[in-house]
Amino acid sequence: MPKPKPNAYYYFMIDFREEQRKVYNIVYRNMQEVNEAAAAHWKAAAPAVRNKYETKAKIEKQKFSGPQHKYTTDGRTYAEIEQEKNEKIEAEEIERADIMNMIQCGREELKDKEFILMDVNVLCAVHKVCLIGECALLKFSIKKGIEACHNIVINAVPIPIGYTSDVKISCQELGLNMPDETLARPNYMEYLATIIDFINKDRSNNLPPIFTLEDKVAPVMSFISQMCRKAGEDECLFRVYKLETLFFQMGNCLKPGSFPKESLVRTMFQKDSFSSTPDICCEHHDGHEREEQCTAARTKRWAYTVLDCCCPWGDVVMEANKHAPANYDLEGISAFQEEKQIRNAPSVAAACVSGLNLGAKPSRPVVNKDDDGFTQVTYKKHTALRLPTGNFGNVAPEAPDIDEEGTTPFAGETPKLGKFVALRSADKNQK
Ligand SMILES: [Zn+2]
Repeated sequence: MPKPKPNAYYYFMIDFREEQRKVYNIVYRNMQEVNEAAAAHWKAAAPAVRNKYETKAKIEKQKFSGPQHKYTTDGRTYAEIEQEKNEKIEAEEIERADIMNMIQCGREELKDKEFILMDVNVLCAVHKVCLIGECALLKFSIKKGIEACHNIVINAVPIPIGYTSDVKISCQELGLNMPDETLARPNYMEYLATIIDFINKDRSNNLPPIFTLEDKVAPVMSFISQMCRKAGEDECLFRVYKLETLFFQMGNCLKPGSFPKESLVRTMFQKDSFSSTPDICCEHHDGHEREEQCTAARTKRWAYTVLDCCCPWGDVVMEANKHAPANYDLEGISAFQEEKQIRNAPSVAAACVSGLNLGAKPSRPVVNKDDDGFTQVTYKKHTALRLPTGNFGNVAPEAPDIDEEGTTPFAGETPKLGKFVALRSADKNQK
């Protein structure tokens, strides 16, 4: 039950108690005793005195009933939550504008642009501070595909008190070893130096933004701020953005209208089409039953998901092990896609519309390395499954010119005849 709001008499009692203590040295043990002593005085109080306390009660009531003083169940005020929400909206707007700025360099330049991906494996979180057991960084561009990947497995000691079982469960799920107190403590300064070296090869003053999936933004930020605190660096140098937003903007830049909504991109990452790709994890996870959970493997799969769409849209020839996993038979996939397209286009007309028959248009180029290691580019031509056997253009008679005589007028007006009707009436005449 909510506490009743203090009234005018309550504030009168407070002052009364203070006055009695100071002037008459009377100390009341509780408010009940104050009440017993003050009641008569309050009844006899002059209207001006009562008015003073009534005004005070009114002001206090207003002060404590505003939205800024209403609390949520987790002890935070609504004002704080409101402010946080506004800050988040503002940050998202800045992020979107920043990404747009990067993307709008022109289609060709965009294909050369390098992007940094980062992923972390969280062992536990204490008041939004995440204990990280593994992290990976990846660099890719649409043209060159995956260029570099760096993975760090962290012996995350000390484990916060009371979190040992949480960490144990996470380690099992993520395929990591339980942090070992007897081994060396993590060198966060060194990690930070490695990360800065990786993302900023040109040593420019402006570090490029780091992209990660939406649900990993907070853990990545937490990891960066922990490293920055240890190294005395300013964490504001780092920008951590959503990969979903980048992919969405990038896709629509390469092929306008390819993604109607950002949620579509999110679904693609959730689907994780490359989840069973072998040999993309780090040394630690190699051969482990949880190798899918490796941060190196995850960042590679994100990159493959982006490249799988962006390469065809950007007319970039895909290469296995760069734009797609090494075990991908790109020619087979291309053939399959063509077959699927033909199956979806049963009519000759539909096949013509999609440019499938006639063999004039080469399909997506396919790159393969032959035994000598030379790259071969082959173009597979489309072949329609069925083509019209006869030339129907010759069979159909030429439509006669329409004149008033060849038509039967309806009562009142002469209808306008299309060619088809005219043809039929010509047919009848022949019979
Ligand atoms: Zn790993």
